[in-house]
Amino acid sequence: MTLMNTEPSGIYIHIPFCIRKCPYCDFYSITDLSLRQVFLESLLREMETVSANINFHFDSLYVGGGTPSVLDAEEIERIINAAYKHFRMLPGAEISAEVNPGTVTSQKLKDYRSSGINRLNIGVQSFQDENLHFLGRIHSAQEACLAVRGAQEAGFENIGLDFIYGIPGQSEKSWLSDLQKAAELSPAHLSCYTLTYEQGTPMEANLRKGQIQAIPEDAAAGLFEATGVFLAHHGYERYEISNFARSASQRSRHNQKYWSDIPYLGFGPSAHSFLPPERYWNLRSVKAYIGAMNSGRLPVAERETLTQEQQITEAIFLGLRKSEGIDIDAFDKKFDKDFKALFGEVIQNLEAGGLIKIQKNHCALSHKGMLLLDSIVSMFVLSASLSQGLKTSGELISSEV
Ligand code: SF4
Repeated sequence: MTLMNTEPSGIYIHIPFCIRKCPYCDFYSITDLSLRQVFLESLLREMETVSANINFHFDSLYVGGGTPSVLDAEEIERIINAAYKHFRMLPGAEISAEVNPGTVTSQKLKDYRSSGINRLNIGVQSFQDENLHFLGRIHSAQEACLAVRGAQEAGFENIGLDFIYGIPGQSEKSWLSDLQKAAELSPAHLSCYTLTYEQGTPMEANLRKGQIQAIPEDAAAGLFEATGVFLAHHGYERYEISNFARSASQRSRHNQKYWSDIPYLGFGPSAHSFLPPERYWNLRSVKAYIGAMNSGRLPVAERETLTQEQQITEAIFLGLRKSEGIDIDAFDKKFDKDFKALFGEVIQNLEAGGLIKIQKNHCALSHKGMLLLDSIVSMFVLSASLSQGLKTSGELISSEV
């Protein structure tokens, strides 16, 4: 059966290599780069094989990981060419790649620009060396700055910078000085994630052993609030809990698909694909992934078909991440339900508490509500007796460099 779509879909490519593992990160990657060539051949074969049953059109390609910038421009170009060869890529497609500042030179960035990438996501994380050291990053603050300027000089106009805040001991003044430097570099887009202690990571183990202490909740809430105020003042609109853009056209086209129930295909180890109502994900191990492709099998680890209850739960969780919130008309039409009747009581209580607002037929979180996303989603789920079974946000939302 060949699958078709109406809205343009996205393609995600997972490059499973990093120079060194950062202690807070739970994305899949290995530091042995010796499998890079054979991985690349498997990846290109996976794209070709999957394309045989897909007649979608696509307007975004996102090369994430891991650290895609361990690849040189020619290797990235092979991936982009494969996407254009095997899939219907629309003119003007957004072609993004994540860049770790410790892996690029100004020449490499120029070569990336020539390879067809038109949007860069640079994993700055902080402009302070002590924070970068705590996060186990392989680059200095100066290298991060050079990478941003190098990308600008290479001709990239659509540049996003990624930051992490809420580092133990970090004051509001210190975090805002990072944002001040970011604003001076004038990127199109900023992603600001709070430091999370993901299970199984060395940083979470250190937290459990009492070797580090998470910042108190009220301080984290203060930093979240200060981020929004500072960036609004500098011309960046929050369009998702952690994402800010100078204009609607500079939002991440690809990542918006994750929050809007739009299909996407994922390639590479651990990559997730979503062809509603089905989601499936690939084997995590690079070796197992290559082994599957070599034996003529797709490297799919598991598939699940979402029930309507699961789809509603996801629509709430993902819709509430967006500043514009859940489109109530679209929700009613898609699920053949009456959103306001289904969640009447919980909406009333949350509105009274200043945690959500209903405007122009959208249900959105207030800033205060954004801090309580998980609890609020649980209230929706419980109020309508929906089954749980929601994927974690980390699995649904893009990767990080
Ligand atoms: S944060 Fe990025 S660079 Fe660090 S280990 Fe994770 S994927 Fe690799």
